[in-house]
Amino acid sequence: MSDKCNCFTETLERVKSHLTEQGKVPDGATEVSFRWQGQTHMLSNGEYAPVNPKVEFKFRAPKKGGGHARNMTKSDISILATHCCYCGRKYKKDGE
Ligand SMILES: [Zn+2]
Repeated sequence: MSDKCNCFTETLERVKSHLTEQGKVPDGATEVSFRWQGQTHMLSNGEYAPVNPKVEFKFRAPKKGGGHARNMTKSDISILATHCCYCGRKYKKDGE
């Protein structure tokens, strides 16, 4: 039994056929491309989901002389999923 799953690849293929069958992508269209939005490219050898949940955060920073910055500081961070969200399989990290 393989310890890997192709859930993300298979789901993307299903979405692709579904949208094509439904005519959302018209016959004869060229350069059709499907990809997970926000796909992360991992440099590590560990196994990861291609897409991970993102936490967006923002705040108004305090200024040295008192008061607060006029503009909000915004940022976001991706949190690595530990399990496949489709089949529930646990991802293996480096050295595991
Ligand atoms: Zn899976």
